[in-house]
Amino acid sequence: MFETFENLESCVRTYCRDFPAVFKRAKGALLWDERGRKYIDFFAGAGALNYGHNNDALKEGLLKYIHEDGIAHGLDLHTEAKQQFIEEFNSIILIPRKLKFRLMFTGPTGSNVVEAALKLARKVTGRTNVAAFTNGYHGMSLGALAATGANSKRRGAGIPLSNIDRYPFDNYFGPDTDTLSYIERLITDASSGFDAPAAFIVETVQGEGGINVASREWLQRLARLARKLGSLLIVDDIQAGCGRTGRFFSFEDAGIQPDLVCLSKSLSGFGLPMSMLLIRPELDIWEPGEHNGTFRGNNLAFVTARLALDYWKAPSFLQNLKQTSDRLNADLQDAVEHYRDIVPIKTRGRGLLHGLVMPSTAVASRVSTLAFSKGVILETCGPTGEVLKLMPPLTISSDHLNEALEVIRESIDRALYDAANSDFVSNSDLNQ
Ligand SMILES: *Cc1c(COP(=O)(O)O)cnc(C)c1O
Repeated sequence: MFETFENLESCVRTYCRDFPAVFKRAKGALLWDERGRKYIDFFAGAGALNYGHNNDALKEGLLKYIHEDGIAHGLDLHTEAKQQFIEEFNSIILIPRKLKFRLMFTGPTGSNVVEAALKLARKVTGRTNVAAFTNGYHGMSLGALAATGANSKRRGAGIPLSNIDRYPFDNYFGPDTDTLSYIERLITDASSGFDAPAAFIVETVQGEGGINVASREWLQRLARLARKLGSLLIVDDIQAGCGRTGRFFSFEDAGIQPDLVCLSKSLSGFGLPMSMLLIRPELDIWEPGEHNGTFRGNNLAFVTARLALDYWKAPSFLQNLKQTSDRLNADLQDAVEHYRDIVPIKTRGRGLLHGLVMPSTAVASRVSTLAFSKGVILETCGPTGEVLKLMPPLTISSDHLNEALEVIRESIDRALYDAANSDFVSNSDLNQ
């Protein structure tokens, strides 16, 4: 059934191994495979489909634009579609939040916007090293990969990944260790071997790293430390941004103002490639073309990205988002309570980015497999894939949310039962 892929597509493919089907159609929070089987999407394109698959408003606008022979590819030429996006992003997102940024369109991947942020921070400060955190994920190109924590990913580089200082994220050593004091001591001590970095690059909620949430206070102290050291603060909001944690930017709750913000995944709102670096205006010291790229002008994405901003004008969108997040959070708290006497499970997250920490990698992987067999697409994350990642489209209906949560519960029940009765032995068990 999958021979074409197995024989001809590179071994590098990954998600398709966890979700073996040939997908054909998608709408909102649902996907269908070629046999007509329905799946509820609790993964949302790794956070690239916050407004759901084939969102009607975005699709109609895009079809109209194409039909009228609107510019599709435009390098960084001025286009009407780009102008409208820039103006509305400024008026709908930035101005109401009292944020002032220049907009830089980079190549369309998240990794590329991270590369731009790292380059600019080094250029602005004249320093080479960037501070990144344990369990951080910033992409796969060499600069972004250096800032990424996971060894399995870093190994692929084939060369030394350098010029990154690794520091412990909030709560890395558990609640009793204040990692920010530790970091501050290391950097300010003249004999520690650590220098002030060009920048700190941080995810406020670590997506790939296991849904680790930095506290408001920790983020505020990090922002203060960065200022004191003359280092820039880069928030990588590629996954946690665009509404995923309940506000447009994930750092709004903490009340901090980063120097640079990386956006990508759900920025276009339609799953079209588009990335943008927000730059505090004084720091915009690029020479023309110093970070260039052929695909910085995906005008189809500008069209859908502008239409997606309409959601942020409607108060009902935020109210629904809050209700859905509360519902998900309550259900997960309930699950933790339910399993308390059987096995300790933890939940963590913000908004519609939540994790359930399973007792082992094998159990998490088994839950994902079982959920898929019952029609729910549920990914795992964390250092060894031990965390179930719950990340539905922000626009999911309460019926689909409930249906998926029920399947996930059943799958956890079954996986824990199987693990307790050890009538399954998986490869990851054997490796442990
Ligand atoms: C996905 C992701 C990236 C990389 O984006 P790509 O488009 O895959 O290159 C970088 N940072 C974070 C936080 C991400 O989630």
